[in-house]
Amino acid sequence: MASVSVPPPTCLQKPLVVPQRYMFGPGPSNVPPRILKAGANPVIGHMHPEIFEIMSDIKSGIQYMFQTQNSMTFAVSGTGHAAMECAIFNTVEGGESVLSAVNGIWGERAAEMAERIGATVNTIVAPPGGFLTNADIEQALSKHRPVVLFLAHGESSTGVLHPLDGIAELCHKYNCLFLVDSVASMGGTPLHMDQQGIDILYTGSQKVLNAPPGTAPISFSERACQKIFSRRTKPVSFFLDLGWLANYWGCDGKPSRQYHHTGPVTAFYSLRESLAVLAEEGLENSWERHHKVVEYFHQGLESMGLKLFVKEKKARLPTVTTIVAPHGYDWKEITTYIMKTHNLEISGGLGPSAGLVLRVGLMGCNSSKDNVDMVLAALRDALQHCHKSKV
Ligand code: PMP
Repeated sequence: MASVSVPPPTCLQKPLVVPQRYMFGPGPSNVPPRILKAGANPVIGHMHPEIFEIMSDIKSGIQYMFQTQNSMTFAVSGTGHAAMECAIFNTVEGGESVLSAVNGIWGERAAEMAERIGATVNTIVAPPGGFLTNADIEQALSKHRPVVLFLAHGESSTGVLHPLDGIAELCHKYNCLFLVDSVASMGGTPLHMDQQGIDILYTGSQKVLNAPPGTAPISFSERACQKIFSRRTKPVSFFLDLGWLANYWGCDGKPSRQYHHTGPVTAFYSLRESLAVLAEEGLENSWERHHKVVEYFHQGLESMGLKLFVKEKKARLPTVTTIVAPHGYDWKEITTYIMKTHNLEISGGLGPSAGLVLRVGLMGCNSSKDNVDMVLAALRDALQHCHKSKV
């Protein structure tokens, strides 16, 4: 056989080096040693009985975290985007109407995903940092008659915690499924899937759960399953097809499981551990801790003269805070300075908040008053050392 024409890369001769860093941006958050250690367990077959037991534990942990009895509850092998597509691709068929409530980038992305599969998509758009009223939503539901309404509960791009009360009732009045993105909010603020009438709910592993990115808990109500399993056409994605995933996760009541894809077993170990940590603390305690810590953070920011981007207090996300970019400064210089000097990640805006805000995420184990003090000190230092324009 001819010798290789591409030589082994010399960069791979150097050892892997990854720095320790304070991950206080909108995600991923720091992964504590206990969860990292869980992920370092040996790889065994993804269809071995021990893995099925771990998957079953994960399912119970997600049911607790989501406060749901839905048997169609599992984790997608992929990040939050994979769960978004799993939700949309399964519930929507080409030509159907979808309504996306846009209060930041995630509503825009959901709209694009639905568009790509040939749905007729309409949006209702909240002003940046604001949210939609139930009257806005009802008007759009009655006008567009969608099969699905998408709403981001925690809009990590704008820092908005969108109120949910009464929206499921409106959706169901118009025969529409209620799809909620809780990637940035789950575990940090109350959410009760069943009581709040949510039909499809998903989150990610890398925010409040403090697990590595790469798995995305998701759950479908009975109503959602009825629509999905009476589709005329197959979902466009084989990988995300709920029929296959339900079987792989043992959610379809069938006695045997078929090979669908190779589950990322080490990511499952970490996810299971992160759910165990949440269950040990208790959801209510986690919600209360995130709320108390963020309140302390917001007071600290305001006493420094900084302004919060979300004006209405009750609509501020307790996990990701958006701070109005300090007047006269270049936000990028601030985030770069803080990274360089304090080894700490905070980020700029995204989508409708790009250039307008700084974003700080204190999620899961990162949500503590000590970490707030660290961020406030870093911000104070940055404001002293970064350039302030004279205008
Ligand atoms: N939705 C929201 C609200 C998010 O904050 C994110 C991640 N920033 C996502 C969806 C997408 O998740 P991922 O980056 O894990 O694909």
